Amino acid sequence: MTTAPVENSSRGHAKAFAPPSSNAADGRKILVGLSRPELEAEVLGMGEAKFRAKQLWQWIYNRGASSFEEMTSLGKPFRAKLEAGYVVGRPEVVEDLISTDGTRKWLLRFPDGNEVETVFIPEEGRGTLCVSSQVGCTLTCKFCHTGTQPLVRNLSPNEIVSQIILARDSMAEWPSSGLNRRVTNIVMMGMGEPLYNYENVRTALNIVMDGEGLSISRRRITLSTSGVVPEIRRCGVDLGVNLAVSLHATDDETRGKIMPINNKYPLKELLDACREYPGVSNSRRITFEYVMLKDVNDSMEDAKKLLQVLKGIPAKINLIPFNPWPGSFFECSSNNQIRRFSDFLFENGISAPVRTTRGEDILAACGQLKSESERKRKTKKPCAAE
Ligand code: SF4
Repeated sequence: MTTAPVENSSRGHAKAFAPPSSNAADGRKILVGLSRPELEAEVLGMGEAKFRAKQLWQWIYNRGASSFEEMTSLGKPFRAKLEAGYVVGRPEVVEDLISTDGTRKWLLRFPDGNEVETVFIPEEGRGTLCVSSQVGCTLTCKFCHTGTQPLVRNLSPNEIVSQIILARDSMAEWPSSGLNRRVTNIVMMGMGEPLYNYENVRTALNIVMDGEGLSISRRRITLSTSGVVPEIRRCGVDLGVNLAVSLHATDDETRGKIMPINNKYPLKELLDACREYPGVSNSRRITFEYVMLKDVNDSMEDAKKLLQVLKGIPAKINLIPFNPWPGSFFECSSNNQIRRFSDFLFENGISAPVRTTRGEDILAACGQLKSESERKRKTKKPCAAE
């Protein structure tokens, strides 16, 4: 197994892989994804009063309006001005697949032709939307299908928020409708490493959490990282969302082989950042994702080491049976071994459920997402130094 070089700092990424401006194909500006201050600036720039921005915000994020025509509380002259220079913004849906187990996967296309996938996983009493943060991924985790698709670019706040809006549209469940919501939880666990697109993810999640709009509480949002240590604390301070960490191994040698990012941010640094994650407590544990790979990380020795390395961190572990994808070269651990591993951790006081594989028939399961988007032009490699 070879290890690929890990490309740089999150700030280096942000510049080198910046998304295009949020304009529709006809050049009009897209409103979805603008922060409140940005929306206010647009409204004031049109010579309208500031409170109009609040009305617009509510129409877009609370009532789910996708056109200005629907916004009947706004005067006709204002709506005409909006129509001339703006669109509300919806991504193009290229594919909409539903698994036999109810998992739903959308392939979305943005105006520059790039595509990402978003997955909805319905469960008893809740529904989780798995949202992408980048087109492709730079991190090449060896067990992950997305990691075989080179990073094309970061997603903009518009493209991140649009994934949640699309799910709400598809299930006709806007907050103002008063219906029971199916999308109750968000996980930033789709394509890409969210902490390598931190600024845009932060803007997007602040929109998603806003109580006058999509109104999804930070307690119901989980950001999953492969271990971009410098941004972990920032994320806790700025956003206060739940943290999930792709751990997958208990020593640097094994982790470095299957997750090249470990060569930049080794286990000790990662686990220290987890210990210090703002707000972490026994009632708010960090989730450690652990994919079960036969003869790689699944021995009882590994289970013992897992207990040791997580000592002192309020933690729960998600054991993920490896989901094969075309060309993958790992095997999933046997059911018996996964059960033994899980039982051992439970017996030693740490919650370690085995995640049920969902949406495998439509390649929507964990680690299986990938789009056909490829990078069209060469860009300078971001700086390797922090
Ligand atoms: S597991 Fe996450 S960070 Fe690693 S390659 Fe896949 S999408 Fe990228």
